Amino acid sequence: MANFIKQFILLFSVQLMIVENGWIVEDISGRRYLVNFSGSPFSRKYAHRLRALNLKQIYYKNERSRKTSTASRTAGVRATVVARKPGLDTTCPPKDIFPLDSGIPCFMDRTATPMFVYFTFDDAVTSWNIGFYRHLFGSNRLNPNGCPIRATFFNSNGNTQYNLVNELYRGKHEIASHSISHRGPPTWWSQTATMDDWIREIVGQRTNIHRQTAALDGRGVPVAEIRGMRTPFLAIGGDVQFDMLERNHFVYDSSMVKHDRKPSWPFTLHDPSAAKGPICRSKHCPTRPHRVWEAVMNVYYLNQSGLVTPCSMIDGCRPRGGRRGALEFLRTNFRRHYDDPDKVPFGINMHAAWFAFDGYLSAMNDFIDELLKLEDVYVVPIYKLIEWIREPKKLSELNSSKFGC
Ligand SMILES: [Zn+2]
Repeated sequence: MANFIKQFILLFSVQLMIVENGWIVEDISGRRYLVNFSGSPFSRKYAHRLRALNLKQIYYKNERSRKTSTASRTAGVRATVVARKPGLDTTCPPKDIFPLDSGIPCFMDRTATPMFVYFTFDDAVTSWNIGFYRHLFGSNRLNPNGCPIRATFFNSNGNTQYNLVNELYRGKHEIASHSISHRGPPTWWSQTATMDDWIREIVGQRTNIHRQTAALDGRGVPVAEIRGMRTPFLAIGGDVQFDMLERNHFVYDSSMVKHDRKPSWPFTLHDPSAAKGPICRSKHCPTRPHRVWEAVMNVYYLNQSGLVTPCSMIDGCRPRGGRRGALEFLRTNFRRHYDDPDKVPFGINMHAAWFAFDGYLSAMNDFIDELLKLEDVYVVPIYKLIEWIREPKKLSELNSSKFGC
């Protein structure tokens, strides 16, 4: 209760400090923004945006007083927009600093923001699972800008048929590294693996994919286009893993799971402490800043009661009722992202084995049909989504010449 009163007093004092229509704030990279505060009732909805900017200083709009305050860090302040005014550096944050839960990139209006959906499939690409991929990502399925819908494949070596990896790559899907051995136990990845091991496994599979595919058609998947990774068993390997990624010019990891109803956009690990808690729970989370993106895996709920443990991957959930049940499961989880105030991208992270259950493949097929009826939905691989976050474009600007396929 005492805490509540303290919060209230802080909030009240924050109110008093708001002069005219905003504050100038400075983030850790030294950029300044003009932040407007609305006069509407306090809403926690926007508080995280300010916190996520990693503010170093907060100034009054009238800079003469140059007073600083830390109040907004402790009390939820109500920021609605970052205004763009001439003479002030109110551009978007630097391309490779995108803090966790900082809302829609560049504070873009949600109606102008595309709704991104990305599919990821883990493990070997084989003659068994390629059929599902051909079926779901047929050439007739297009995004609103006319580009075909595409997925990301986190590929591990065992059982992979590299002619099929080539087929996926030529079809404009994204290929990413999921290790050479995929060895167990999970603790080997989180506790035992050394820098050399990580390089052998993750960089090694990048090289391996390139060599094996190039041996077949003379070109193969270029190393520079293998930009991402996912750890086997989603076992995070601490700073060693992220040092390995950074030193070897990977763009992103996608192994951290967010155990929370509020989903998150991909974010950068320039401040890994922000990921502690709801996202990285193990003691093997990175502790130092890394120039790496994290395409966080938001959990799925089997039903809305919250009584059943959420699943980290689609195939961890087995909805009842075959095709109908599975479709409903996909719809409700999509809506939780789509209807979020931050219009959070919906990742469909899975193994193809889920399609072996009766009706589930048809459900996914129906679900994609439904997605493609929505005029703001774009189904893209992870790296395209990160490209967009780095340089956001309004829906109206997403024609193929500007965003590419
Ligand atoms: Zn795997």
